[in-house]
Amino acid sequence: MNKHDSERVCGILENLGSRWVDSYEEADIVIFMTCCVREAADTRLMGQVASMKNLSLRADSPFKKRLIAVGGCIGQRDGEKLTEELAHIDIVFGTHNIASLPQLLMTALDDGLHHVEVLDAAAGFSTDLPIARVNDWAAWLPITVGCNNFCSYCIVPYVRGREKSRPLEEIVGEAAGYVESGVKEITLLGQNVNSYGRDLYGTPRFADVLKELDATGIARLRFATSHPKDLTDEVIEAFGNLKSLMPALHLPIQSGSDKILTAMNRNYTQAHYVSLIEKLRRTCPDIALSTDIIVGFPGETEADFEETCKVISEVGYTQVFTFIYSKREGTPAAKLHDDTPAEVIQERFDRLVGLVQENAWKQNQKDTGKLVEVLVEGASKRDAQLLAGKSPKNQTVHAKIPADTTLDELLGKFVTVKIEEAKTWYLKGRIIS
Ligand code: SAH
Ligand code: SF4
Repeated sequence: MNKHDSERVCGILENLGSRWVDSYEEADIVIFMTCCVREAADTRLMGQVASMKNLSLRADSPFKKRLIAVGGCIGQRDGEKLTEELAHIDIVFGTHNIASLPQLLMTALDDGLHHVEVLDAAAGFSTDLPIARVNDWAAWLPITVGCNNFCSYCIVPYVRGREKSRPLEEIVGEAAGYVESGVKEITLLGQNVNSYGRDLYGTPRFADVLKELDATGIARLRFATSHPKDLTDEVIEAFGNLKSLMPALHLPIQSGSDKILTAMNRNYTQAHYVSLIEKLRRTCPDIALSTDIIVGFPGETEADFEETCKVISEVGYTQVFTFIYSKREGTPAAKLHDDTPAEVIQERFDRLVGLVQENAWKQNQKDTGKLVEVLVEGASKRDAQLLAGKSPKNQTVHAKIPADTTLDELLGKFVTVKIEEAKTWYLKGRIIS
């Protein structure tokens, strides 16, 4: 969601006549798009903004001083407080008012004063704002904003507001436009895409979104994120029926312990989660699964943690995002007492990471020798001779760029790769066609 918001901000800046530069030193305007889901992101933001204070402006800048803006979730949460803590911040805006950015920039440029604008709720979707997409072949498409779930550890509902769905026709219209302009992959966005439409139509209609988007002719369709309590049979069946829906699902479990799941207010049990996985594998046997895990939620015992490890081994994930619990002021969990020593939590976390890697490696081995269609996204970070792209299962695939072509010619195109080697986090192969 932050990446999508950032593409909107970049679109606005381009519309105002700005151009891209490669470093903070060269920039007249710096906008931080922030996240406050965990404390580490908070701390990093404060450090990065603080370090801008003594950075001089380029000599030929038409500005008197560099404009510094903070947007996104931290802007929404802290508002005025940010300019009190860091006086060199010029603009603070929130999650609901990206559209105000041109006005805020112009006013701050004019009067040299701080400007803070944070709204309580969104007036609507920012669909008519300009957008500067990072890649021509891929588009993020928000279908809902906000969240109504109030998981007890999570700050998102407080900074992103209540769940709001976009009308189905509008989503289909935007997707059709992308297909026409050559986009190959659309990723639908929402904090819980499965409850899409409940506010508009009385019942969730996410399966309809998938069906209608498949009919637009898009090559690849993905979505994030799914809440296990709302994943319906119809959506599961879509993995078997819809050609464009890629065989990859991110289904955060957070913990394998029913006691912890209840304390987290997740509204499902380990058994329900595992039953969803069984259904998914019956519908789409080769589906790649990924998840999120929080380690060290208040009250988590060794036995609770072992339940989490058990699910990780049983499900066989290709990717697991692991987080140490981070106390977020204002959430119900922040009031829970916990005396588990930090070293114990860290040890569990390290054990989990080892288990995750072992499982990811095992899953990837299954694809050795297979032919995989890869959407080319760029060069490998380690070796410029290799292209990097994504398989249908969202695995990173590396392959040598053929001598008779260039990376630029391949960007955003599909190539067929024969997988010769499977590593923990990527596959390596040879282009067949
Ligand atoms: N709506 C999505 C994404 C939420 S934020 C979802 O529910 O899946 C992404 C992930 O951050 C969550 O899934 C959770 O694992 C993690 N997270 C959220 N709050 C956290 C906290 N206070 N401490 C540690 N991890 C957290
Ligand atoms: Fe946070 Fe839960 Fe909503 Fe995800 S579903 S954004 S974890 S409250």
